[in-house]
Amino acid sequence: MRADQENSTASQESIPKSMKAINPMTLAEVETLMTEEAAVSELISRARQASERWSEISLKERSRQLIRLGERITQERDVGARLIAEETGRALSLAALSELNTVQSFIKAAISEARIALKETKVKLSPLDFPGKSAIVEQVPRGVIGIIAPWNYPVSNFYKSLFPALLSGNAVVMKPSEHTPRVGAWLADLATEVLGEDLVLCVQGGASVGRALVEGGVDSVVFTGSVATGRAVAALAAHQLIPCSLELGGKDAALVLADADLDRTALGIAQWSMFNSGQDCSSIERLYVMDRIADSFIERLNTVISHLTYHGDGRLKPEEEADIGPLQTAEQLAVVNKHVGQAVAEGALVLCGGKPSGVGYGFQPTLLDRCVEGMLVTEEETFGPVIAVIRVHTVDEAIERINRSRYGLNGSVWTSNIAVGRAIAKRLDVGIALVNNHSFTGSLPQMPWTGVKETGYGVASSRWAYHTFVRPRTIVLDKNKDPDPFWFPVDESYQRFVEAVALKNLGGGIGVLFRLIGLLGKRIKATKSLLHPTEDDR
Ligand code: NAD
Repeated sequence: MRADQENSTASQESIPKSMKAINPMTLAEVETLMTEEAAVSELISRARQASERWSEISLKERSRQLIRLGERITQERDVGARLIAEETGRALSLAALSELNTVQSFIKAAISEARIALKETKVKLSPLDFPGKSAIVEQVPRGVIGIIAPWNYPVSNFYKSLFPALLSGNAVVMKPSEHTPRVGAWLADLATEVLGEDLVLCVQGGASVGRALVEGGVDSVVFTGSVATGRAVAALAAHQLIPCSLELGGKDAALVLADADLDRTALGIAQWSMFNSGQDCSSIERLYVMDRIADSFIERLNTVISHLTYHGDGRLKPEEEADIGPLQTAEQLAVVNKHVGQAVAEGALVLCGGKPSGVGYGFQPTLLDRCVEGMLVTEEETFGPVIAVIRVHTVDEAIERINRSRYGLNGSVWTSNIAVGRAIAKRLDVGIALVNNHSFTGSLPQMPWTGVKETGYGVASSRWAYHTFVRPRTIVLDKNKDPDPFWFPVDESYQRFVEAVALKNLGGGIGVLFRLIGLLGKRIKATKSLLHPTEDDR
């Protein structure tokens, strides 16, 4: 049974023991083991036991072990890159760059972020209202974090939650996509080798195993994937009353102003629309260009994109790697084909590409001019090597049209006037707004990776992501030897005390403070009298 058919059989009782992923370049089938749905909760229990040991050790020691894990990933990068290339059809050097070779710097930055996010906070309390009291808020690991990932960056999609989850003291049960299972297992195996048994466990399969993970007893879920699946996962998590972080689809826009450096901008736009064959949640899919420079800019962009190589274009020598690899699945190829076909039928002009490459699930790098809102290619996530150009007359018009999208991950403006760019960036309805660049911050834990609207409410990697991995616990220490001034009885001194507190909070002067101090003694006496009443009190 094919992995991509598994969705439709999720409700069946018998679960297949193996599944087949497909190399999207050669279309060769690769068989891999699948986790039985019923075994998932047992694996979560094992992870929970491992988390108890792990949460006891210091952040310093956890950091040391993660740096060691980063070293092992880097040492084994050739194995990892080969698996990625086999499972995604991507060039080895692209796989190594985007997923493996920078893991050490990612972990080091993640550790710095963790030190900030996991820091205890001291709480200051007024000694008049709350005598003798102090409090700290500490960050407690949630326990076991379930991480469900897509196929587009089958290793690095895990980094942004795997490392913060582990640094926080949690165990992790991770589920790779059914299209890229073996490279996910490779990452989990390396984690086990370095960190010990059961701290990072891997479950394999499609929708039914993903559901079993969310419902199987994890304490929190990080989901990265499509909007439709994200809604389903959020509903399951809501039912379990567990936190859920959602990093979903995108339809990023870039705006090219008339004063932009047209050469650099053409190269930058080509990079961040075509990287990973456009299978990136933050690919530039909508390109708004000021009419005044549109012809000269689009000519440059067309030149760059026409030079990008792909399998089947006749320019590649056998030993050469292509700039553009295949799409991951037959379904993805069908989506891209449909979007382009519909745009052309509605009047878009194909400047280059426009068709499947003829090799595996490949699609030619494609530039479409004269696109308008309402086309699939400007509304829905295409997730392929396709740019839809929309010509605009004014900046205000462009911003309004950019912000109409139901997605919002990255948005960029390209201009030689940084101040103008910055002002426009602030008006973009996105999680990450850039001037003269796009997309690259996804691999930097120093910044929140997050979106708006249907892109989901998740925050990844950075210090701002930790709600999913820890919960705050307040520890209050009370050294007051006397009863507190606001304890029973509710007598006349109580009313005067309450009034004096209000006057103090309104900024009352020294007189109010003295009154409050005097009342404290009366309040203590009144409260103690409940235990040892005198004749007068009775
Ligand atoms: P998908 O939603 O089909 O699958 C994602 C994961 O969810 C897979 O592991 C899949 O097996 C699992 N899954 C499927 N049904 C499930 C269910 N009912 N319950 C639990 N798990 C289930 O997405 P995909 O096609 O693998 O990935 C492409 C999408 O991911 C694109 O929309 C892309 O924009 C998005 N993405 C977003 C980000 C981001 O940071 N915002 C990053 C990468 C990818």
